[in-house]
Amino acid sequence: MGDGRSDFFDEGALVSVMTTEPLGRALDYKAPEGGCFVGAFVEVPLGPRRVLGVVWGAGEGGYDLAKVRPVTRVLDAAPMGEAMRTFLQRAADYTLTPMPAMLRLASRAPGLADPPGPRKVYRKGWAEPDRMTEARERVIAVLDEYGGAAFTLSELAALAEVTTSVIKTMVKIGAVSEEEAPRDLPYPPLDPGLEGKPLAPDQAAAAEQLRAVVAGGRYGTTLLKGVTGSGKTEVYLEAVAECLQQGRQALVLLPEIALTSEFLNRVEERFGAKPGEWHSGVTQTERRRLWRMAGEGRVGLVVGARSALFLPFRDLGLIVVDEEHDTSYKQEDGVLYNARDMAVLRASMTDAQVVLASATPCLESWVNAASGKYARIDLTSRFGVAELPEMRAIDMRAERLEQNRWISPTLAAAVTDRIGRGEQALLFLNRRGYAPVTICRACGHQIGCDHCDARMVEHRFLKRLVCHQCGETKPMPEACPHCKAEGRLAPVGPGVERLAEEVAARFPDARLAILSSDLFGSARALKEMIGKIAEGGADIIIGTQIVAKGHNFPLLTLVGVIDADLGLQGSDLRAAERTFQLVRQVSGRAGRGDRPGVALIQSYQPEHPVIRAILSGEEEAFWRAEAAERQAAGMPPFGRLAGIILSSPDVQTVFDFGTDLARRDGPLRRIGAQVFGPAPAPVARVRGRHRVRLLVKAEKAAPLQAALADWVGQMKIPANLRLAIDIDPQSFY
Ligand code: ADP
Ligand code: ZN
Repeated sequence: MGDGRSDFFDEGALVSVMTTEPLGRALDYKAPEGGCFVGAFVEVPLGPRRVLGVVWGAGEGGYDLAKVRPVTRVLDAAPMGEAMRTFLQRAADYTLTPMPAMLRLASRAPGLADPPGPRKVYRKGWAEPDRMTEARERVIAVLDEYGGAAFTLSELAALAEVTTSVIKTMVKIGAVSEEEAPRDLPYPPLDPGLEGKPLAPDQAAAAEQLRAVVAGGRYGTTLLKGVTGSGKTEVYLEAVAECLQQGRQALVLLPEIALTSEFLNRVEERFGAKPGEWHSGVTQTERRRLWRMAGEGRVGLVVGARSALFLPFRDLGLIVVDEEHDTSYKQEDGVLYNARDMAVLRASMTDAQVVLASATPCLESWVNAASGKYARIDLTSRFGVAELPEMRAIDMRAERLEQNRWISPTLAAAVTDRIGRGEQALLFLNRRGYAPVTICRACGHQIGCDHCDARMVEHRFLKRLVCHQCGETKPMPEACPHCKAEGRLAPVGPGVERLAEEVAARFPDARLAILSSDLFGSARALKEMIGKIAEGGADIIIGTQIVAKGHNFPLLTLVGVIDADLGLQGSDLRAAERTFQLVRQVSGRAGRGDRPGVALIQSYQPEHPVIRAILSGEEEAFWRAEAAERQAAGMPPFGRLAGIILSSPDVQTVFDFGTDLARRDGPLRRIGAQVFGPAPAPVARVRGRHRVRLLVKAEKAAPLQAALADWVGQMKIPANLRLAIDIDPQSFY
């Protein structure tokens, strides 16, 4: 390297470039004219193509220098910092992900490789189209849905499902405006000096503690455990304030896009401006801007989905993971990572603090706090006059229920009572669609998916059967596909749509709202519905698990859990933990305003220890018991698991490979790990691919990743077989 600067390469110097192509290693190039920094985003030639890469360090050399090609050009983006490169490397090692795939996550900036020069963006214009066509209507609907945001031409065309010429014509008539995109603008600064809300004493103490660790400028993780409605957000916003005061950047992760709008407003109230937003509902123009500003240090606070962890923050001082127990933090396809764990890893690379906030933390975090690895702060009461709801079980064995009815007389009476007082009731059932099973009453056949080993779920709203594994849909047949009997197909069991039918029949005057992710075309539509409910626009709300997440419905005073036993069936390692979290979270929606709430839990086994723990609220005892059980079994977080998922269109290939893999377990045995399987996965076929699982179990301290790499490395993987390794698997489907 020249100039005596260790981070800069003069023109012609050998540099090692990590590309986003699946090559398995970095390649050597010569630094381009003008030189380049380590970490620079570059374009390099690869065979006949040009590909994206990052300058990873000095080149290795050791071969004919004349053949080394130069870097094509340095892209117009802040170089990736050393901490980020180390983070990606460690994350790749931990999840056994090839570096290029990791780098792809970290370079998802729309237009990153575009040549410099003016770009055009498109927004809503000033004129109404003279003549409305269906295509034009769709364009306008998209423009309205994103409320004033700018789009690239191709993005707008894709979202509206029109050709670009439709948009160009709309530009001519003024219905769409075309602008030269200005340079990406920095975000308006947030002012941490503004006065926050006055905090209750326990909130103030918690905020003080968080401020102190953030001011310390070192790595640390704190579990902020606060009952629903305790005001965790106000508390961690104080940590954000401290971080901004230090001149560093902060990231808040939320599990659900629909929660962001409320959060944006709270940030604006607290700091006088909105933060940057990063999730799938943000336009590419805005995403491009945020990615760049994160790298230049010109956005102070970002709120986002799990992938925001891979933004190139220049100086990240704080990561908050809100609702840290939420299962959506685990990415279940592509790169299999858990954003909660990766947040801790990233923070430890950049001397940042992590705050894990939840009313029902995951067992891993609870154990880490108990062992002193994490600090822990508790908020034990609701903010203000709000009180925690009273929890009661309804013993379904003692209730009289007609056929195809799921609301017990006791629950129905409570609903009548609440809506009579102008309050709201929420009925929770974690099942989308109308009915989980469609059966033929003539032959007993259950309608399944053609491509998956799964039953199809009737969605009456869509008038179709839907496979929840692969998304395949088909119209409800007239006749049984098996015995051809006509008119004998019948739904079995309830989904939210069927529950809605029962509610409409029993409470004909009540205004009903259904919250199920599949009923909303867009995140914005879902947000609108949530806003309406919060303002009192419904009497009875029926919802799947999306209602369990931190929404605030002040008028809601009754929560009815239709089937608390649902999650306890099956042998999932986390069945107890998940049921506990879900039912406590849903119940926590009740009584958040000034009127006290009640949660009624329908169960056929109210004496089950999990149901009893849910009712008694003796959480610490529940976690201790769960932890003891896991420890005795050597299960996470006391032992470690890795799932191996094999899939292939050919059933023989996948089983033969699995058996062979299991037999050659030397590398695993050397670290004392055991392998179980191969066994058909619970969903044994998805999209026409047969699936087989193996499970590896090791002691906590064992070098699992290295052993897994050696183990799998012995095998030659057949062309039609896919192998995925899931470290710390959360689901076993
Ligand atoms: P949690 O995330 O712990 O469930 P929130 O942070 O959403 O709780 O707070 C619950 C409600 O109480 C919100 O409506 C919030 O605005 C309000 N709240 C919390 N703390 C305060 C405070 N110090 N002053 C005023 N309102 C508060
Ligand atoms: Zn399917």
